[in-house]
Amino acid sequence: MSTPETEQASITPVLTRRWSSPQSWTLDSYRQLDGYSALRTALTVDPGQLVELMKASGLRGRGGAGFPTGLKWSFLPQGDGKPHYLVVNADEGEPGTCKDIPYMMADPHALIEGCIITCYAIRAPFCAIYIRGEALHSIRRVTAAVNEAKAAGFLGKDILGSGFDLEIVVHAGAGAYICGEETALLDSLEGRRGQPRLKPPFPAVAGLYACPTVVNNVETIATVPAIVAGGPDWYRSMGTEKSPGPKIYSLSGHVTRPGQYEAPMGTTLRQLLASAGGMLDGIPLKFFTPGGSSTPIFTAEHLDVPLSFDDVAAAGSMLGTTALMCFNETVSVPWAVWKWLEFYKHESCGKCTPCREGTGWLVQILRRVVGGTGTMEDLDTLADAAGNIAGRSFCALGDAAATPILSSFKYFRGEFEDLVTGRTPPVISARALVGA
Ligand code: NAD
Ligand code: SF4
Repeated sequence: MSTPETEQASITPVLTRRWSSPQSWTLDSYRQLDGYSALRTALTVDPGQLVELMKASGLRGRGGAGFPTGLKWSFLPQGDGKPHYLVVNADEGEPGTCKDIPYMMADPHALIEGCIITCYAIRAPFCAIYIRGEALHSIRRVTAAVNEAKAAGFLGKDILGSGFDLEIVVHAGAGAYICGEETALLDSLEGRRGQPRLKPPFPAVAGLYACPTVVNNVETIATVPAIVAGGPDWYRSMGTEKSPGPKIYSLSGHVTRPGQYEAPMGTTLRQLLASAGGMLDGIPLKFFTPGGSSTPIFTAEHLDVPLSFDDVAAAGSMLGTTALMCFNETVSVPWAVWKWLEFYKHESCGKCTPCREGTGWLVQILRRVVGGTGTMEDLDTLADAAGNIAGRSFCALGDAAATPILSSFKYFRGEFEDLVTGRTPPVISARALVGA
């Protein structure tokens, strides 16, 4: 029997099963592996039944928050005379997250088939796929796939003779991290500066052009055809009771074979690392993020935490985007935290004071700490300022910026203290910080 150190994540290739096919992104390749057959099934079913099917599957949103997908779809008011919209959030930007862009590159038709089924279920005649502007290769690939699908009669008027009409537009963002926040994304899509809106109302009630809108992540929508084809019981046979199904985990950092690993929800990092060849050069793990830099860090003690929404929350963090950034024992925690905070300061949209001003203060102090000129009082100010940003900002970015500081102080405050007392040398010279 395999030991925990060697037991690999049991791979159930559902989401990634086509990724290694030749020309997997083409319509021909997609159709050879059952592509668009779930759509034919879906179009014979009442839209309301599809919403119930999605609820029964237990699928939870793969953009990070894990909100139940079927429930979100069911929030759309019916019979109010307004058009409904589907907006796919393909603005993947959370540090460490690299699953949606590879998905769109390898299997864009699964996303498109998922869009068509979803739009039929929520009675939406229009769908926008909002892709991160820097991901030009993904924009081109999804656009080409949309054109192929349209030429084959899967999009446009009277799809497959069902009487259902749908247009899909691929929209390129301009590279602002905040436009991954769903309401900032909607503002950006409407041609305005992308800044978060007050919620509620949630997009399900007042979204794109103030009309009922479902905003879902790429991986969420790309999962829909598999659920329609396999049924909710089959889907629930994978993963955990409250976090069913398969998931794409992104492994990065000091890992022998970084990349995307599909495994059932509830797989542990220890199992994923076994599949990925272990830690690079055998140097032990020191800390990791379970779901990107917005989620509280874990340490080597958390290698056996099942990576599901509830298990990770019970252990004190969040599953987020399942972006497992792994850092070995050579990495300075204050250095990593400083780097993350530079990112959040740069990406703060400036709409609210705690985040706009606070991220700047945090960066100024962290620069002193990593440059060896910080004080013990600085560390108290860091904790105090981060504590006052968390929960007091307009959107989740403020909380995200406070998280690396608060969670690293929980496990590694001693490393910050060693820097300010001079017990360890600066991780970067003060000279190098000039103009940083
Ligand atoms: P949220 O919990 O506020 O909302 C999640 C989803 O559920 C949204 O679509 C929201 O509209 C919907 N929702 C929640 N309550 C609702 C209600 N009562 N009625 C109708 N709809 C409702 O989370 P969020 O702020 O949208 O997202 C935060 C997450 O985003 C974080 O957990 C983080 O992991 C993730 N994130 C992802 C990326 C990325 O690149 N994928 C980047 C940054 C952050
Ligand atoms: Fe903008 Fe930051 Fe406020 Fe969010 S928390 S609205 S990103 S300033």
